[in-house]
Amino acid sequence: MIVVGGGLAGLRAVEALRGNGHEGALTLVSAEPHPPYDRPPLSKAVLAGETDDTTVEADWDLLRCDLLLGQRATGLRLDAPGRGGVVASTAGDLPFDGLVIATGAAPITLPGDGRQHVLRTIDQARELRSRLVDGARIVIVGAGWIGAEVATAAAKRGCAVTVVEAADAPLSTALGPEVGAFTAPWYAEAGVELRTGVKVAEVRDGGLLLAGGGRIDADEVVVGIGVRPDLSWLDGSGLLLERGVVTDGSFRALLDDGEPGSTRPDVVAVGDCAAWWSARYGRPLLVEHWDVALNAPDVAAAALLGGNAVYDVAPYFWSEQFGRMVQYAGNHATSERIVHRGDSSGRKWSVAWLTDDRLDAILTVDRPRDLVQAKRVIAAGTPVDAAAIADPDVPVRQA
Ligand code: FAD
Repeated sequence: MIVVGGGLAGLRAVEALRGNGHEGALTLVSAEPHPPYDRPPLSKAVLAGETDDTTVEADWDLLRCDLLLGQRATGLRLDAPGRGGVVASTAGDLPFDGLVIATGAAPITLPGDGRQHVLRTIDQARELRSRLVDGARIVIVGAGWIGAEVATAAAKRGCAVTVVEAADAPLSTALGPEVGAFTAPWYAEAGVELRTGVKVAEVRDGGLLLAGGGRIDADEVVVGIGVRPDLSWLDGSGLLLERGVVTDGSFRALLDDGEPGSTRPDVVAVGDCAAWWSARYGRPLLVEHWDVALNAPDVAAAALLGGNAVYDVAPYFWSEQFGRMVQYAGNHATSERIVHRGDSSGRKWSVAWLTDDRLDAILTVDRPRDLVQAKRVIAAGTPVDAAAIADPDVPVRQA
């Protein structure tokens, strides 16, 4: 078996393959020179200077896994269905009878020849941290999750921080403009200038050139405008590729052979690179968050070994920004309305998304209890009483 990609999903796939009884050879190929490490602390504790090492503990001898670090998969040839194939790589051809694709995603960058920092790897985090010095003018493009966390760390380190956002509110893509706007005051409170509705044309030495003229001077530019899986090594493989590797609910890769739903039982994709079929939501989901990378590989590995488990959980993620713990569970893409739970200009509050009497999703700010209770209700799909949801003194529970 071969696992391509040495992030959390790759490591968890190795553990799950062994845990599910795979006794044969196992190789993990990863482009990075480091063994698998956790990424969430990169924009938090690592930038803050509180830690320098986020390696995920693993006993590679016990796992009986060959680690090919600093090696990149460059192509994939599939033999007849169920017969495996060959991964072409910088370490040579690697034949397999089962393959896990766990190559994650890479940050999107802006045009221009000026220096721009992105934050995906531990090396990038260490490099950026060395630039976050007292008085440095740091301009961050994108008021999404990463932008907000980098702004938090940079402001704490005494930098003069400006965040430039094309939409009218922070977190608009993830939460919608109405809910995202509740987080806008957090920037000023932390001494960070937030400029919304500003489109960047390119990164130049010494700052940003704005679309429509004007520039913003900066010592360092950080770009946090999203990520995209790099699937170029899978071109011509016959797998169905959209924004991610398209899979069924057990993470088996779908084929691009004109036959709807035909899968490769010997190839699974999981983590940030996979768009998996969600029976719960009736469409593919590509969820670029830690919880999926942690838990989904158990299902993917079982499928590769002939099992039929299905991954059907409601997505969950968190962010730590401006001294607050922000958590989200569910999916509000088709929700009908928003219900406020507490005063969103205050310190602790939540917002729920509902359709009829169904709780679709919740965002909690320093209200972890709401999150835990809501997760249970969302998972069960049981009806709720909207008036009770709106009362922060009443637990989130079924009606
Ligand atoms: P990755 O971690 O991206 O790992 C993929 C690996 O594959 C990489 O090592 C890459 O080098 C390697 N690779 C790529 N292409 C090839 C190839 N062709 N050949 C060989 N190897 C290859 N999520 C949350 O829920 N909460 C948070 O607070 C949070 N904070 C985050 C902060 C930062 C700075 C970042 C970057 C992410 C954060 N996330 C957070 C998201 C979370 O970390 C990701 O969802 C998770 O890391 C995805 O894991 P993965 O294994 O799928 O992909």
